[in-house]
Amino acid sequence: MNDCEIIDPRFRPLVLANAALEKLAEGFRWLEGPVWFADQQCLLFSDIPNDRILRWTASGGVSVFREPSRFANGHTRDRGGRLVGCLHGGRSVVRTELDGCITTLVDRCRGKRLNSPNDVVVKSDGTIWFSDPPYGIQTDYEGGKRESELPANLYRFDPRDASLTVLADDIVQPNGLCFSPDEKRLYVTETGLQFDPATHRGILVYDIAGDGHTLCNRCAFYQATPGNADGIRCDESGNLWASAGDGVHCIAPDGTLLGKIHTPCPVSNLCFGDRHYSRLFLCASQTLYAIWVNSRGAQRP
Ligand code: MG
Repeated sequence: MNDCEIIDPRFRPLVLANAALEKLAEGFRWLEGPVWFADQQCLLFSDIPNDRILRWTASGGVSVFREPSRFANGHTRDRGGRLVGCLHGGRSVVRTELDGCITTLVDRCRGKRLNSPNDVVVKSDGTIWFSDPPYGIQTDYEGGKRESELPANLYRFDPRDASLTVLADDIVQPNGLCFSPDEKRLYVTETGLQFDPATHRGILVYDIAGDGHTLCNRCAFYQATPGNADGIRCDESGNLWASAGDGVHCIAPDGTLLGKIHTPCPVSNLCFGDRHYSRLFLCASQTLYAIWVNSRGAQRP
């Protein structure tokens, strides 16, 4: 429990008194994009500046899953269990088919190149929602310097007819995103104003209209300080677990900070996995951590 800080009593039953933060592996450059494959009992995650996707298992530790990865960042799985990923280098969202082939799903909007898709979620109807800030084309470190051709939009891609819809064009660098368990809300982290505490809006929340894809009622949900929230995940009770500069913040659906899991370095992204999706895997700068909690992840591909 030493790693967990109880701020609201509602956090106490969500964590374990006898579970500690575990360092699984270290020596990477910048970790992102964790996704759990329950059928293979493995975690895939990105080491972006090293241009590779890594694989962790409890028995084998870390091995290379794909290198080069075209500077892969965020990952998820679609309803068929296939890996869906964001590529900084490819400026695209791709799907790894069950035979191993990689299909480019989308790399343009109205004829213009995407910036560098960052993070992605798949809705229960199979549509793919992703953010497209320019972080992967601003430096050679995380992809390659390129001119931006489009605003940093939030998109919805429908693989059934290959249609692409702009969901929001007014978020200052949309980044991590996550549905509430009932898919009536969408949380989005806004990382573009991180150097201006007066205007930094942190995590936004939208209601999803009855048509299943129109965003409405935009609200400021939570401001993660220090640092800023990047990747986010919901547990099955609807609490939001957000990466932050000092670890992980757990936020109730009403926006109240319930508690924190402290880490020695900033966390960029996280996911639930392992037994019953009750273990949190943390991509924390150059280190991969995990901690068992008494809560289960909502997204189970
Ligand atoms: Mg991100």
